Amino acid sequence: METSRHTLHRTASLALIALLLVGSAGVSLATSGEALAVARPTLLDVPTPTSCDVLAARPLTLNRWGFMTIRGDELTRHARRSDWAITLLDPQFRLPSNYAPASTSLTWIDTHARLSEGRGWQLKLDAAVALRAMFLQAREDAGLILRVISAYRPYDLQNRLLARLAARKGINKARTLIAIPGHSEHQLGTTVDLRGYKNGAWMAANAYRFGFVRSYLGEGRQSETCYASEPWHWRFVGTTIAYEVACSEQVLRIFLWERQHGADRVIGPNCGELTPPVDYPMPEPSPDPNPSAEVGPSLEPSSEPVQSAEPSPAP
Ligand SMILES: [Zn+2]
Repeated sequence: METSRHTLHRTASLALIALLLVGSAGVSLATSGEALAVARPTLLDVPTPTSCDVLAARPLTLNRWGFMTIRGDELTRHARRSDWAITLLDPQFRLPSNYAPASTSLTWIDTHARLSEGRGWQLKLDAAVALRAMFLQAREDAGLILRVISAYRPYDLQNRLLARLAARKGINKARTLIAIPGHSEHQLGTTVDLRGYKNGAWMAANAYRFGFVRSYLGEGRQSETCYASEPWHWRFVGTTIAYEVACSEQVLRIFLWERQHGADRVIGPNCGELTPPVDYPMPEPSPDPNPSAEVGPSLEPSSEPVQSAEPSPAP
């Protein structure tokens, strides 16, 4: 089972991090402004999220305002505007219907992700700037001509899109193709749908450097994401979290779930060739507690990268 495998993998990596930090008692690392102790045992107590099969079988119903909703869903824990990078959305967790990014934080972009004035799509400014930089790099590196085909979608627009699709395909098919209102990452104002990515290899290897994560992986990961593969759908979470997601080998849904239950970052050897953000607080190798000691066989932790299960680029 994928979740178990990743939990074990993460546990192993934390043991390595703990080794690297031997002798550095009291060291803690800042994550998004929080000071988190390294290698906390609470990691093993992270509960398993409700399975996608169970969520997919839940009936749809109309809420009191006449909008489609999933019976038994609940408000996501991080539903403040300032939580946009860590807001967990899936068929279980949703945003309030009145959630919208501050209008002053949104900007208009055209299909090439250039800032435009009232034309094209709306996106949070930070995401838009990063998206434009990614478009330029993709063109330079791989000749890709990326295009925007969707970005911010308010709750009521998501509802109209669902209704339109349901009229054509039936609601049971439509719900597997498009999120129920409140459950869409597009409502955050940080998410785009793209075209022009071709086989997706450049994006899989590089998008994290610009702060983007592919939320809905294919290749057997649908039981973790709860949605079919969407190689066009990219969510901006900032470079720090995007780097950590890439390092973790987890899908975003599971990464955010574990993070909100106290799991710590996965950094160090498991990150392989990934490039951390410029100001990323990497753990320092522990100083040699006894530098004058005679060199010989020992069990001292090494600061050399440890060969372990390498993270593979997302499909
Ligand atoms: Zn999308």
